[in-house]
Amino acid sequence: MSAALQEPVVDGAPAPVCEVVDLVKHFGPVRAVDGISLHVDPGTVVALVGESGSGKSTVGRLIVRLLEPTSGTVRLNGVDVSSLTRRAMRPHRRTVSIVFQDPASSLDPRMTVGAIVGEPLRLHGASSSQRAERVGEMLEKVGLRRGVAGRYAHELSGGQRQRVSIARALVSRPSLLVADEPTSALDVSVQASVLNLLADLQRDLGFACLFITHDLAAVEYLADEVAVMYLGKLAERAPRERIFTAPRHPYTQALLSAAPVPDPPTQRSRRRVVLSGDIPSSLSPPSGCRFHTRCPVAVDRCTTEVPDLREAGGSLVACHLVADDGTGPDVRRVE
Ligand code: SF4
Repeated sequence: MSAALQEPVVDGAPAPVCEVVDLVKHFGPVRAVDGISLHVDPGTVVALVGESGSGKSTVGRLIVRLLEPTSGTVRLNGVDVSSLTRRAMRPHRRTVSIVFQDPASSLDPRMTVGAIVGEPLRLHGASSSQRAERVGEMLEKVGLRRGVAGRYAHELSGGQRQRVSIARALVSRPSLLVADEPTSALDVSVQASVLNLLADLQRDLGFACLFITHDLAAVEYLADEVAVMYLGKLAERAPRERIFTAPRHPYTQALLSAAPVPDPPTQRSRRRVVLSGDIPSSLSPPSGCRFHTRCPVAVDRCTTEVPDLREAGGSLVACHLVADDGTGPDVRRVE
């Protein structure tokens, strides 16, 4: 890890690069995010997964302060930035960057690639020669030629444009990158190369990453930890391996049920769970457990009692039917 990325140490352990506590974001009556707590440790990748409408992109935007939280706390490297004014936030801006889903709409068409990638450095006072050198290095790091600096975004392919977005996001060496569905607007043929690039850069530069996605194959490839979100709340959080081998929450199990299992007897004992209907509206989320309208194993109490996110068998799970040792229903099991 480079010196620029060294993190504060608390009680002998590195402090999280990012920690959100009880984060809430309501847009008028729409309860997009309703009490999310999670952290991202230095140098790790946390995947935030869920269907569209789960509120996961809103969490990303709250962390980079593109949105103001309704309540709750966002700490970056131990500093509570949730109540800072824009001016007071400025020194913390280089701590965190974001890459969006659609590079076409996030790159200014009037600026050259060099100006786009160098802009964060300009805002932090780097001279033009420092910027030119750093932009050139960064373009090479993302697999582009230095000469691309003189071109405009519309002259590039979708994959090249996303590489430019990534270069811009990483040029000021943030300790956290929020990657919001970074490959889902790209042709399938270039998605893998952009994912590989992100994985290589993460390893080389050592930044932490909140990887927002609905692509479970990408999660398996990139993430250290997985947080599963449903309708503004966390359903489950666990290390990647445990999520894929022993998902506890019925929603996580349903999401994973489409993935093939390498072991044939296990495969035969599994069924694909098709969740009925769309995710309900966050205008009026269901009472009790928000998943109860679609949960194949819901019981009466699920309609009235909100399940807490609690430790169960080494995972954090919000489900009444999962015991403290992690045992509980598996909605994929063929009876
Ligand atoms: Fe299903 Fe009830 Fe568990 Fe919610 S609390 S996931 S409705 S069983």
